[in-house]
Amino acid sequence: MNVLLLGSGGREHALARKMSQSPQCGQLFIAPGNAGTSQCGTNVDMGVSEFEKIRAFCLENAIDLVVPGSEEALVNGIYDFFAGDAALQHIPVMGPSQEGARLEGSKAFAKLFMQRHQIPTAAYREFNADNFEEGVAYLQQHSLPIVLKADGLAAGKGVVITSSHEEAVTEFEQMIRDAKFGDAGKTVVIEQFLTGIELSVFVLTDGHSYQILPEAKDYKRIGEGDKGLNTGGMGAVSPVPFADAAFMKKVEDQVIRPTVTGLSKEGIKYNGFIFFGLINVEGEPFVIEYNCRMGDPETEVVMPRLQNDLLELFTAVIDGKLAEQTIYADSRAAATVMLVSKGYPEAYEKNKVITGIPAPTNDQIVFHAGTKASGAEIVSNGGRVLAVTSLATNLAMALAHSVQTAEQIAFEGKTYRRDIGYEFI
Ligand code: AMP
Repeated sequence: MNVLLLGSGGREHALARKMSQSPQCGQLFIAPGNAGTSQCGTNVDMGVSEFEKIRAFCLENAIDLVVPGSEEALVNGIYDFFAGDAALQHIPVMGPSQEGARLEGSKAFAKLFMQRHQIPTAAYREFNADNFEEGVAYLQQHSLPIVLKADGLAAGKGVVITSSHEEAVTEFEQMIRDAKFGDAGKTVVIEQFLTGIELSVFVLTDGHSYQILPEAKDYKRIGEGDKGLNTGGMGAVSPVPFADAAFMKKVEDQVIRPTVTGLSKEGIKYNGFIFFGLINVEGEPFVIEYNCRMGDPETEVVMPRLQNDLLELFTAVIDGKLAEQTIYADSRAAATVMLVSKGYPEAYEKNKVITGIPAPTNDQIVFHAGTKASGAEIVSNGGRVLAVTSLATNLAMALAHSVQTAEQIAFEGKTYRRDIGYEFI
C-alpha cells in the first residue's frame, strides 16, 4: 500500500512512524514533512492544499491512500476533490467530506448538529452583521464569564473568554464589524461558560461504526501552572485518569454514538478520525468542540500507546468493516513534552541547530515538529520544534523521563514545560 500523508508537524511524524511500522506499508510519502518524517518515508515538497499537484503526484506514484494530518486540506474539500475525479476515485482519502469537515470548520454548524442530535454542549446563540444590535443586547445581560467564538477557522485564536461585558462587546464588534478574524469571525457563537476539566477523545469511524482510541489531555498554555498565552499545545498525557469506564460509557452513549449515527442519518460522508474536545462538568461530558482530524500533540501520546496496525485500521475503514476490529492500547502511561522556540507563540527565530536527539527506544521517541534538515544538521523550522514522548508504568515516571531528555536536547532558546499532567501526579 503506497501512502501519501499530508502535513509537517509532530502529529504527522507520529502518524508516519506508526504507518511505516505496518507490514502493509509500501512506499510512504509525506508532503511537505519535516526532518523526522524523512526517517519514516520520503518527504515531498508540496503543500497540503495544492490539490492539482497532489493529484499528479498520486497518479505518478501509484498512491493507494491519502491521509490528511491537519484540518486544512479536509476543510478545503480534498475528500470531494478525489471522489469527484474519475482518475482519483479509486484512491481513498482518510477523512471526512467537506460537509463533514464543517464539524470543525464552522462552530455554528457544529452547534446546530449537536442540537439536532441532543448531544450535550454549552447553551449558545449565534449572531452576525444582520442581528448585531441584538447580539450586543444579549451580551450585556449574559452571565460572566462569556465565551465568544469566531464561527470559522482562526488558527486556534478564534475563542475569546472574557469576564467583562465591555470587553465582550468590544471583541464582538471587532470580530463582526472590523473582521478581526476575517470571514471566519463574521458569524460569532456566544456560549455559556462551562467549568470542569477538559480531555480529548478520539474515534476512527467508517461512517457507521466506530472504534475508540486511547484518550488524551493536552496543555495549551505556554507557562507552567497553565499560565500565559495559548499555544498549539505544550504537551499531552494519555491515559487520562478521570476517564474511567463509567465516564467513558457516558461519553460513548451521549456523545460518540449520537455523533456517528447523526452523520450517517444526515447522509454526511465521514471516514476517518473524529476528535471530541470534551469537558467533564461534575462527572457529565459536554462537547466543547469537534475536530475532523487527530490533535497535535495528542497524537504523539495516542499513537505510541495504540498497539494496532494503523494501516489495518484504515483498510477496515475503507472496507466499511471497522466494527470487526478491536483496539488494543499499551497499558503504560505516555507523556509528551513539547520543546518550543523562545518567543513562541509570538515572534520566534528559526534555523537554530539542534543537537542531542536520542535514537528511539521501546520507551521513548522524540517526534519532530518544526524541524528541517540543513546539510548534515537538523535545524529548527517552527515554533513547536520537537515532542519528547516517554512511556512508563505511571505518568510521573513517563514525565520525568521526557523532561530528562528535554534537558539533554540542545538548541538556542529551547523552552518547555516540566509540569505536563501535573494535576494527575
Ligand atoms: P475551542 O477552540 O472551541 O476548543 O476553544 C478553545 C478553548 O477555550 C477550549 O479548549 C476551552 O479551554 C475553552 N472553551 C471553549 N468553550 C468553552 C466553554 N463553553 N466553557 C469554558 N471554556 C471553553
